[in-house]
Amino acid sequence: MTALQFKQPFFNELPKLLSPVLPQGLGASRWIAWSDDAAQLLGGIKPTASLLNQCAGNQLFDNGLGHYFAQVYSGHQFGGYSPQLGDGRAMIVGSLQAPEGAFEMSLKGAGITPYSRHGDGRAVLRSALREFLASEALHHLGIATTRALAVVGSDLSVWRETEETAAITVRLARSHIRFGHFQYVTHGLQSKPQLQALIDFTIKQHYPELTLDSQGYSAWFAKVVDSTALMIAKWQAFGFTHGVMNTDNMSILGDTLDYGPFGFLDRYDEDFVCNHSDSESRYSFVRQPGVALWNLQRLAQALAPIIASDSLVSGLDSFEPRLIEHYVTIMSGRLGMARHDNDSDLELISALMRGLQANGLDYTRTMRQLKLVSHADKQLPWQDDCVQPQLMSDWWRAYKTRLVGVDDWDGWQAQRQRTNPKYILRNYLAQQAIEEAERGNLEMVTSLMAALQNPFDEQTQYEQYAQLPPDWAQGLVLSCSS
Ligand code: AMP
Ligand code: MG
Repeated sequence: MTALQFKQPFFNELPKLLSPVLPQGLGASRWIAWSDDAAQLLGGIKPTASLLNQCAGNQLFDNGLGHYFAQVYSGHQFGGYSPQLGDGRAMIVGSLQAPEGAFEMSLKGAGITPYSRHGDGRAVLRSALREFLASEALHHLGIATTRALAVVGSDLSVWRETEETAAITVRLARSHIRFGHFQYVTHGLQSKPQLQALIDFTIKQHYPELTLDSQGYSAWFAKVVDSTALMIAKWQAFGFTHGVMNTDNMSILGDTLDYGPFGFLDRYDEDFVCNHSDSESRYSFVRQPGVALWNLQRLAQALAPIIASDSLVSGLDSFEPRLIEHYVTIMSGRLGMARHDNDSDLELISALMRGLQANGLDYTRTMRQLKLVSHADKQLPWQDDCVQPQLMSDWWRAYKTRLVGVDDWDGWQAQRQRTNPKYILRNYLAQQAIEEAERGNLEMVTSLMAALQNPFDEQTQYEQYAQLPPDWAQGLVLSCSS
């Protein structure tokens, strides 16, 4: 197999925004998980023994530098500004040209960097697997995200609340640039030339159609707002809660980034908080759109030395309409309903969500039952499970008026199957797969991953991964500890 050919655009062009680092290898290590699908992005590479050694940080990839690098950035964490953050345990190896575009490879959990603060630079197997499973799951739901090639496990012990073992996630990202990079350059370095360089680099790498002038900058910011709105619309549409929407975890490309205590909704509950360290529910499910806008406002402040205020303001003003447009498009696609206008469409969709919430219904399983609906039905398939059936019968009447044009019901139902997933990464499934992997049994990681790679297909062999959470897992919450 030919060696991976790394390029170093970020390292070469933005040297003030990084520190060279060397990995601290895991030592004796093994593959815990591998995504053939992500490997396809790199020309179908295989999990060889020498690649294992490199991904474990025991041996350097030949990346043309002789070292890796950690990026520096800052960010608003739970509303408070931290002037200097950075990759405390992730190291970027370099950029790989793939048919679908370039991907930066990073090793998350590869040791101490200048930005580790009091951390040990490590990731535990539990958090590495959660990132791996989630990024592959979101990707196959059609939600923009960083990808994960593999998880490498080891016997190296690390302490969190208890003793655990160290692992590395091999992450592939179109870019690791975060809102926090722009904040660091403007508020920390206070350097207009550096800000200009960072903006120009981002545009040249990822928006080559745009010009490097005021018109191009204005169009670029509008695109950043739009891709963020699209990502959030998809999170809301598929019931994903990120958990730590700090500005240092917001990708400039609108890719879901930095998985920690995330969670998918089981029961529809707009107040769901997946991160038990989030005592003020700042990052609850329903607050994600508002937080994204708040984060975009922080980004706009950081861009203000270069980009004209009226461009920034009109970009920010476009967030809400773009979010609603994306959300209504996705949800009316899931529901298979005729569109009227955004206001009345959104009201009808919201009424369903209120009905699901009031009745404590499972979000994914209820939506999946749409594939059984037909216009002649007297009631919805989940009507008998409702404690407040009236809400659902009222909604059924309103919804039916949006289905009048349908004549091919088999085709309509098949389309509901293609738009409403059967398999999502429920927290209890991630937890079970992790516990099995910690005991040395990788079968569930592999099979769960296979189920999540085709979330819309029936896959009867994986029926167990479409079940409601068991009693022990009701209200499972996670901490930031990773
Ligand atoms: P997160 O919210 O997980 O994205 O992490 C917030 C910050 O803490 C980032 O700058 C991370 O690099 C850093 N961090 C998290 N865990 C560790 C660790 N074990 N060692 C060093 N830094 C860490
Ligand atoms: Mg982070």
